[in-house]
Amino acid sequence: MWNADGVKFADAMPVPEQMKAWVLGDPDELTLIDKPVPAPGRAEALVRIDAVAICATDLEVISYGTPAMFEGGAPFNKNFTPGHEYMGTIAALGPGVDEFEIGDRVTVEIHAGCGQCKRCRMGMYTSCHNYGLNFGDMNKGHRANGFTTNGGFAEYAVNNINTMIKVPDTMSDAEATLVVTAGTSMYGLTELGGLVAGESVVVIGPGPIGLLAVAVAKSLGASPVVLVGTRENRNQIGLELGADAVIDARNEDVIARVKEIVGPKGADYVIDCAGTETTVNQAVHMTNRGGKVCLAAFPKKPVEFDLGYLAVNNIYLYGIRGEGRSATHRAMAFMAEKRFDATKVHTHTFPIEDLPNALRHARERIDDAIKVVVSMKDSKAKAAAAE
Ligand SMILES: [Zn+2]
Ligand SMILES: [Zn+2]
Repeated sequence: MWNADGVKFADAMPVPEQMKAWVLGDPDELTLIDKPVPAPGRAEALVRIDAVAICATDLEVISYGTPAMFEGGAPFNKNFTPGHEYMGTIAALGPGVDEFEIGDRVTVEIHAGCGQCKRCRMGMYTSCHNYGLNFGDMNKGHRANGFTTNGGFAEYAVNNINTMIKVPDTMSDAEATLVVTAGTSMYGLTELGGLVAGESVVVIGPGPIGLLAVAVAKSLGASPVVLVGTRENRNQIGLELGADAVIDARNEDVIARVKEIVGPKGADYVIDCAGTETTVNQAVHMTNRGGKVCLAAFPKKPVEFDLGYLAVNNIYLYGIRGEGRSATHRAMAFMAEKRFDATKVHTHTFPIEDLPNALRHARERIDDAIKVVVSMKDSKAKAAAAE
C-alpha cells in the first residue's frame, strides 16, 4: 500500500500502487494499460470501481472528444480514462473526510463543479462557469468524472465527497450505476422544471434518460405520463416503468395523439430526449400555453424550429446538462424505496476487459441494447475461474 499525506487506509481493503485502466489515444482508440492509483485529496475519497454503465455521452467523448475537456483541450493522447456512470466501494479517505467510511458502497454523480463560481454556489454545478479549469495556473478545482478528470473505466477513481451517495445493501451494483441517469431526469423535471403532481408529462425518446424520466415523472405524481418512441420494445419497457400511454412515432400522428391523451390544449411538460429537428418541433407544438419544454438531448447541428410559436404561447424552453442540485441523491431515495425498477433498462453486462465490445453493443444497439454495464466483479470471477 502506498503512502500519501493524510490519506487513511484500512487493512481490510489493501490498495495497490498500480491499477488497470483504459485510456483514450486517438479518437476511437482505447488501450488497457497500467497506471498509478490516484491519491484522494481534501474532501475526496478513493473509490474501487465495481461497475460502470456506458452512456451515449461516453461514445461522444471517445469518438469526438467533446464534451470532455482534459488539461485544457481535447482528451486525446493524454492518458485520459473516460467513463462516468460508476459505483464502487470506498478504499481510502482523503484528509478531513469523516462523511464516509472505508468499505461503504457508493454510487457517484458526475459533476462536483468548482465550488467557487456563481452557478456552483447555487447548486447548479453541472453548469459550472469554470468547466475544465483544473490544471496548471488555471486550476479552479473543477471536477467532472470522465470529462475533466479521469473516470470509471478503470479499477480506481478519486471522487469528491459531495458526488458520492451510499448504496443500500438491497441494491445491486448494476442498478446503482443507473441512479445518476434517474437523477438527470429528476433534475429536468423538478429542480429546473418545477413539476407539480397531477400535471401531464410527455417524454419523447425512450433512451435510458427518457425511460427513467417516465419512471421518475410517474413516481412524482405526474398524470398522465406519455412516452413517444419508434421502437416497440422500448415503448413496452416505458409501459412497465409507469407510462399511461405510448405513441409509436413511426405509425401515428404524434401531436394529434398526444392531444387525444392529455387533452386538446396539449401537455404541461414535454421532455425531448431525442434531440432531432423533428422531435424539437413536435415538443414545441404539443406543449400547452404556459407549458414547459425541456431539452435533455444534445442536437448535433443547429435545428430549425417554430420559435414564434413558443413566444406567442408563453412556452418555457430550457436545457439540462447532467444532474445538478443533488437530484441524484433524491433519485437514490426513490430507487432505494423501489418506487420503480430501473434495471428494466439494463440489458447487457460485460467484464472490464471487454470494454470495446461493450461500447460496440451500446453504439450499434446490438441485440436491442439499452444500458450496457461493465462489471469488475465479473472480470475478477472470470480471472479466478481461469486460474
Ligand atoms: Zn451519462
Ligand atoms: Zn463552478
